[in-house]
Amino acid sequence: MNRIITLIPGDGIGPEISKVAVRVLEHAGVKINWEIMDAGLTALDKYKDPLPQETIESIERNKVALKGPLTTPIGKGFRSVNVALRKEFELYVNQRPAKTYKGLKNIHYDNINLMIFRENLEEFYAGIEHYIDSSHSAAETIGIITKKGSERIIKYAYEYARKFNRKKVTVVHKANILKYTGGLFLDVAKAISKDYPEIIFDEKIVDNMAMQMVMSPNQFDVIVTTNLFGDILSDLASGLVGGLGMSPGANIGDDIGIFEAVHGSAPDIAGLDIANPSAIILASVMMLEYIGEFQAAINIEKALSNVIEKGDVVTKDLNPENYVSTGKFADEICRELDKIQ
Ligand code: NAD
Repeated sequence: MNRIITLIPGDGIGPEISKVAVRVLEHAGVKINWEIMDAGLTALDKYKDPLPQETIESIERNKVALKGPLTTPIGKGFRSVNVALRKEFELYVNQRPAKTYKGLKNIHYDNINLMIFRENLEEFYAGIEHYIDSSHSAAETIGIITKKGSERIIKYAYEYARKFNRKKVTVVHKANILKYTGGLFLDVAKAISKDYPEIIFDEKIVDNMAMQMVMSPNQFDVIVTTNLFGDILSDLASGLVGGLGMSPGANIGDDIGIFEAVHGSAPDIAGLDIANPSAIILASVMMLEYIGEFQAAINIEKALSNVIEKGDVVTKDLNPENYVSTGKFADEICRELDKIQ
């Protein structure tokens, strides 16, 4: 029986790249009935609501969603729909792989294979902030870290490391200065690490971590950290593996997973058929692993990796000298899939 999955094509380049992901999944033989729903600017235009109730109900019912990027107005207008979705479904895990593929021209290191887990709901992203006086001369943001919130993200990272035979988990914090919030996160990590004796426990202060990731990223394996540090370090990691066009992400809770490309809606190139669909294809690969379709996940990643390695049937961001359209890039991935399957 076909599995029903919510598809939110999204704004800007979202519809173009989601179309490619759907086509590649179909070509890999995965049986999915897509329930197509709106969110973001597209939904605001149609329903006067950037996150319509129908979309929430669809995700709730299907438990899994593939999401294109959504435009969020800067400084004014509606709050981020991405943040609203994380809160609505208590998606406390933000999972971002950073992996190099052969043939990428804009990378400085080979063989990077990091898996970054970021706590997704607490600390400075909880929205507890205000000006402390009427003249707006000072402002305060309160970042709360809880034992429960720390335990569930750190356990998730360790369970992932065990399941996928990863050797080391690095816990990133700032417990030397943030003695209570950072200290609590680190204490919880130390306690949990005792249940996983086969995995090396490593801990780093965030500033040192940023430098080490740039100088010698291959020393790291699985990384787990708090919300703000994870936001910054995962983009740093994207920079190590060819940029946001190569970076997928997942937001996961106890029983719901939403998979997406990490980049935004790229309004500057929307409709031009030049967007790189790799990130949303890799997000689909993560989604297939989540629903247990391992062989299709392996095949799609291999097909994409083969096309990137050949190097001349890719989008402009990957090869500015010799490139093709989004559609032709997709055709080539499907051809590679035919050879592999
Ligand atoms: P962006 O990621 O959309 O674009 C940054 C630059 O990267 C642009 O030059 C763009 O053309 C390029 N780019 C992005 N994705 C690309 C791709 N797949 N192929 C080729 N080039 C690509 O970031 P931005 O311009 O800061 O944000 C635009 C909008 O997207 C904003 O409204 C922002 O809030 C939103 N956004 C959404 C998400 C999300 O939904 N997950 C994430 C980030 C930003």
